[in-house]
Parts: sequence; C-alpha cells; structure tokens
Amino acid sequence: MKPELIIVGAGLNGLLLAYLLQDSYRIILLEGRPRIGGRILTVEEAGERFDLGPTWVWPHQHHIRHLIDALGLTLFRHYDQGAFAYDAPEGVQYFRTGKNAPSYRIEGGAGMLTSSLAERLGDVDIRLETPVRTIRSDSEGVTVHTDGEALRASHCIVTLPPRLCADTIAFEPPLAAAMREKMLAIPTWMGFSSKCIVTYAEPFWRERGLSGFATSHRGPLSEVHDASTRNKGALFGFYHTRSADDSQPERVIEQLERLFGAPARDYELFRYHNWRSDPYTSVPADREPLDAHPRYGMETKASERIRFCGTETSAEEGGYLEGAVIAAMRLAKALMEA
Ligand SMILES: Cc1cc2nc3c(=O)[nH]c(=O)nc-3n(C[C@H](O)[C@H](O)[C@H](O)COP(=O)(O)OP(=O)(O)OC[C@H]3O[C@@H](n4cnc5c(N)ncnc54)[C@H](O)[C@@H]3O)c2cc1C
Repeated sequence: MKPELIIVGAGLNGLLLAYLLQDSYRIILLEGRPRIGGRILTVEEAGERFDLGPTWVWPHQHHIRHLIDALGLTLFRHYDQGAFAYDAPEGVQYFRTGKNAPSYRIEGGAGMLTSSLAERLGDVDIRLETPVRTIRSDSEGVTVHTDGEALRASHCIVTLPPRLCADTIAFEPPLAAAMREKMLAIPTWMGFSSKCIVTYAEPFWRERGLSGFATSHRGPLSEVHDASTRNKGALFGFYHTRSADDSQPERVIEQLERLFGAPARDYELFRYHNWRSDPYTSVPADREPLDAHPRYGMETKASERIRFCGTETSAEEGGYLEGAVIAAMRLAKALMEA
C-alpha cells in the first residue's frame, strides 16, 4: 500500500509535485479556490485565451522549457517589433530600442501548463474549494483540517506562498518561531500586482509601427505589452500601484488611446484581476510594491512530516514559473530518494 500524501495548493508547483509523486504516494490535492492554477490564470473568450497571471518564459529557464516540451506545448516569441511609448506627463514620446533579450509565450496561454498537468493526474484526488485551516502533526502522521473535514496522511507538503502560509494556516505544534518569522518576511512575487487585458479585432498598433509596449508614470497602467493571439489583437497592462485597486476601464481605454491612437476605443473585451487583494495569493504586507526581484529560497523541512514548496522556496529563479518547477523537482527527488 502506498503512503498517503496531502499536497496543499494546486498551483503549478502543487500540480507538478502531484504529477511527479503520484506513482509513489496516494495523493490528495487540496485547493482553496474553485479552480486549479493559483497565480496562473488564463481566461477564455470566444476560443481565444488571455493571461491575467504569468505571461513569459525566458530562454535561460531550462526547467520550465523542458516541462513545456514534455507536455507537448509550444512557445512563440513575444511580439516586440517597433517603437515603444513613454507616457510622459508632458505628452507621449516614442522611442526605438536596440535588440531586447527575447521572451516567449505559451501557445494557448500559461493555463495550458496547469490544465495539461491536471489531465495527467491519474488517481490524484483533487478537491477544489477546500481551504486548509490547520495542520496538526504527531509521531504517526498529519491531520489536515479543512472547513468540513479532518484528513489524515503520513506527510503533507504546503505549496502556498510562504507569507500567506505563515499568516493563514495554523500549525500544531506551532512552526519554529525563527521559521515563521522568516516566512512572514518573504514577499509573494507579484502579490502587489493587478493586471488587465483589453482585446481588439486586430493588433492595430503594429500597423502604426508600435510594439504595444509602453511605460507610464501617469497611469492607471504603469506598463503595457502586446498580448495578441493568432486571431485577436490584445494588450495587457499592469496597474500603477497608486491606482491598482479597481479596474477603471474608461481610464484605461483613455490611456490606450493616448498611447496607441483612436482605434484603442474600439475594444471588444476588458478583463481584470486584482492579485493584491486576492486572499489566496496575498496578505496585506504584500501590497507594498517591490523595488527589485527579491532573493528567494528558504529551508523547506518544517518537521519530519511537513515540507514546504512553491516558487518562493527556490533560491534559483524563485518567484518565477521556473522557480516553481525547480522547487517541485527538487522536493520530489528528495522524497523519492528518502
Ligand atoms: C500578474 C502576474 C504576472 C506574472 N508574470 C510572470 C511571468 O511572466 N513569468 C513568470 O515566470 N512568472 C510570472 N509570475 C509568477 C508566477 O505566476 C508564479 O511563479 C507561479 O505561478 C507560482 O506557482 P506556485 O504553485 O508556486 O504558487 P501559486 O500559484 O500561488 O499556488 C499556490 C496555491 O495555493 C492555493 N491556496 C492558497 N491558500 C490555500 C489554503 N489555505 N488551502 C488550500 N489552497 C490554498 C492557491 O489558491 C494556489 O492555487 C506572475 C505572477 C502574477 C500574479
């Protein structure tokens, strides 16, 4: 009989752990949201898919690229031809840039990663809308308490962002004070962000020699990028933290018109997600914008029975999809060797 393992969180990291460990353990995967994917959020509209979470993979990220290949998915180059726009207070300025390091997008959106992994989870018992509240451990195993149930297993892996985990899940016996403090000090990558997608019949800015990339101090968006699919034009924007708490579609469209011209008014779809106040990603401490990408990585063994995982636990590429893959592969290997 295989030992039981409870994995908490069905983001990329939790799903990949379940995939890698399913032959060695009987797995229950507990997810608080009514969907899998965590910070990966791909919305579908009339057969086209757009990302409100992660978008890019970079050439040096070998682990995620290998996973994309192994799942039969394809990458295509992010559109970055043409001038970029700077939304200066005194008026929009356009610049040509030199050659940028290319970034790549997943055909069908980043959600293809998590849906493809989920399709490959044979006997894994995935339970959505099942937030974990308390994890008790004893010499024989762990008891994981959700709102309605107490589930027993020999081991538990928690894949939440460390700060969210330390803030929202109670541990009995409690986590070592130093570990809890360290976890509370780790910012959740992109936990301060909110993002919108605006779609068009055509990527009209390309015909005007514009790449769709813009930066702004005026807002509401601080950064805009091309997010077009094969059949639709699309732009995505990150909100300026000053104006991040509601979607402001009219002001966003005004800004896009200012940057890219009058056709920006003729949008088809506007979608928005506020990660800053999403209780399954962020805590209030995450609302502070970060000046730089934090140095991630942490001790992942809480006890003989409880391990932590998730992208922020990886010292290498922590915060990114690549970090989520590296962390899952390392922990799965360590558990299988043990
Ligand atoms: C707007 C945005 C843009 C980004 N852009 C990029 C990019 O371009 N490239 C890149 O590489 N990375 C990017 N990232 C980061 C990337 O999304 C993350 O690295 C990756 O998705 C993290 O996966 P994870 O499984 O470690 O964590 P998560 O996806 O956060 O998974 C944790 C899971 O735990 C669940 N959970 C939380 N609390 C509970 C509970 N109490 N009980 C049960 N389940 C719970 C959550 O719902 C979630 O499903 C971006 C993120 C955002 C938000």
